[in-house]
Order: sequence, then C-alpha cells, then structure tokens
Amino acid sequence: MADLVLTLNAGSSSLKTALYALADDAGTPLMTGQIERIGTAPALQARWADGRRVERGIGHAEAGHAGAMKAVLDLVQDGAPDARVAAVSHRIVHGGPERTAAALLDEPLMKELAALAPYAPLHQPHNLSGVRGAMEAFPDAAQVACFDTAFHRGQPWVNDTFALPRAYYDKGVRRYGFHGLSYEYIASRLAADYPELHAGRVVVAHLGNGASMCALRGGRSIASTMGFSAADGLPMGTRTGQIDPGVLLYLMTEESMGPAEITDLIYRHSGLLGLSGGLSNDMRTLEQSDDPAADEAIAYFAGRIRRELGSLAAALGGLDGLVFTGGIGEHSALVRQRVCAGMGWIGIDIDPAANAADGPELTAPGVGAARVLVLKTDEEGVLAREARRLLAA
Ligand code: ADP
Repeated sequence: MADLVLTLNAGSSSLKTALYALADDAGTPLMTGQIERIGTAPALQARWADGRRVERGIGHAEAGHAGAMKAVLDLVQDGAPDARVAAVSHRIVHGGPERTAAALLDEPLMKELAALAPYAPLHQPHNLSGVRGAMEAFPDAAQVACFDTAFHRGQPWVNDTFALPRAYYDKGVRRYGFHGLSYEYIASRLAADYPELHAGRVVVAHLGNGASMCALRGGRSIASTMGFSAADGLPMGTRTGQIDPGVLLYLMTEESMGPAEITDLIYRHSGLLGLSGGLSNDMRTLEQSDDPAADEAIAYFAGRIRRELGSLAAALGGLDGLVFTGGIGEHSALVRQRVCAGMGWIGIDIDPAANAADGPELTAPGVGAARVLVLKTDEEGVLAREARRLLAA
C-alpha cells in the first residue's frame, strides 16, 4: 500500500482520527475513527472505507492520550499492515498572533506552541500531548501543525482588537477566532462549487457543540464571533458565549468564586445545558423535549445567531450568502428555520421543503436575495490537504 496521511484532532477527552492516501488529492478517507472517554473508560470506534468496522475498549492501563495514540497506531498497523504513515497532521487550537499557515512541527515550534497554553488552557495542552504521542508512535512520519486561529489572522485591526490599552494588544490579547479549519474548508467549497458567492460577502455559521460564525469576503475571514478564547460569541453546548465582563466581576466579588470555579461555570455548565435547566447540551435532546426551558434554550441560541448575523453583515457591508455547517447547522431544520424566520429584511428567505431536506440550497426561488446553503464541513480533509502541501513543498 502507498504512503498515508493520518489526521489527529485531540480534545480534552476525545480523539478523532482519519487516514488518507498521500497521493489522493480528492481526499476520500480510507478510515475514520474516534476514541471517546480518554482518561476514564476509553473506547475506540473506527470504520474502513471497505466496510470493516472496529469497536473496542482500550483498558485502564492505557488510559490517557498516550494510550489513545497507541490504540491508533495498532488500528493503522492491523488495518493497513503494508502501509507507511508519511505524515501525521494535527489540529492545534492556537497558533498565536504570527502563524497564518500550517507548519512542520519541530522542537522550536513545540516550544513556541507550549508557551501559548495560557491562551487556550483547556485545549492547547491536550493538542500538544497528542503531538508527543504521535511522535513516539510514528517516529519516521513528518508531524504537521494546522492552527484553528491561522485562517483569521488577516482580519482588519478593528475586528482583531479589544478596547483595552494598546499594550495588551501587543502582548497578544487579541480576537483570534477559532474553527479556522472548518471555515477554510467552506471557503474552498465555495470557490469550487459557488464561485460567485466565494467572490462576495458570506457569513458561515459553524454550529456544533462548539459554535461560532465568520464573515468571509472573497473567501477571506474579515470578522468572527469567537474572540480571545473559545468561550466568546455564540452560546454553545456548555459554554456561555458572549457575556458582560461585569458578570464575571460580580461572581468574583459577591459570590467569592475563583478562576477555577468561573472557568468551570462558563465552559462546562452554561450554554444550552445551563439554559435548559441542566436538561442537556445536545440539540437533539432539546428538540425532542417538551420542557419549556428546552424551548427557551433553543430560542436564545437562534436569537444570538440572528444578532450576530446582523453584526457580521454590517462588517461585510451587505450579505450575499449564509452557509450553515457543523452538526446542528447541517442537521437541525428547526434551528435553521428559527434563525431565518423573518429575515427577509436582510435578503434571507428559505424554502421550507428544502430546509426539511437539509438543502444543500435553501434559498426560496424568486424571493431570497441572499443564497442560503447547508454544506457539510470537513476539518479532517483540510488537515490532510495541508500535510500534502507541506510534504510537496
Ligand atoms: P463538535 O463540536 O463536538 O464536533 P458536532 O459538530 O458533531 O459537534 O455537533 C454536535 C451537535 O449537533 C449536537 O448538539 C447534536 O445534538 C447536534 N445534532 C446532530 N444531529 C442532529 C439532528 N439530526 N438534529 C438536531 N441536532 C443535531
């Protein structure tokens, strides 16, 4: 078998992986898999393109990211024994202010990325332990870093800064935006399949467990809802999204909460989970519930998306298109309908039947001035593509 590219997307307790042929520019995965519950009861699920399925527990002795990486190594060696992994491509949440493109990982870059851990304490350390594990498991492979921040680094200064004294901007307290791999993929899909839209003003709504929106002009990011951290902007499964800094001050002074408790509150107990009274962070569960709090959680979610859509359209100076992506964006007709209802003033009118069928084109014929699309994102595909580009360079 030919040379392969392995992609790794390491979260706090999960690891998503996919395998591609290095020479296959079309980017159809040979295998996709994930390991859930790392650290407690890790279990691997994978599917090969030829139909083979793998499902197994990993066992406590191997728990942790190193154990997860060993399980990926075994999966590849068992499933494709003659193959050579030429590159491992990693999703890295933070590349700092200067990194505008993917890069080959070496020790100086590892040091640079480790120094960014205070900017993304909940993600960066897990990403880097994933890299360390992969360096041990695949010592002969090139290791590639793809940054979720890189796509947004060209934003105009007014959309990149906070209104703090300028010294903080110089120290790196900036609006980084995240989900950059997803936006890069959507921009490339627009370039290939909707070139007129790609050249124009488009808002992309990446709505998953994590959620954000990005304004694209000519395929480049000019503004986004996530700021310094991945807690800003839209409400998410368990994260607040945008919140008045006065609330955080109140929690510190009046409720005597420290940094760890506030982190726990704004990252793990808020968003859809908190608004639904603890019912669920999962949109499917909320949609199926008849609890009024579940409905209010969805109403808040859709309401914030509508407000941000107006804000991003203002930053773009108009709107030619809206793209929904991510688990909720791709599959929830209800959320799309609640976002788009009554938005004719901004040129959005969707066809209910097309919406119920998940698109891809939702635009109501003859009415909608802005096109509305549902496109499936492919962050793994971007990881593989970047590895190919760097190996060919
Ligand atoms: P992550 O950010 O973890 O990658 P995903 O992009 O997979 O998340 O999105 C997960 C979200 O998508 C969950 O809230 C889930 O309920 C929602 N979702 C998936 N399928 C559907 C569906 N058919 N209807 C409504 N919501 C859905």
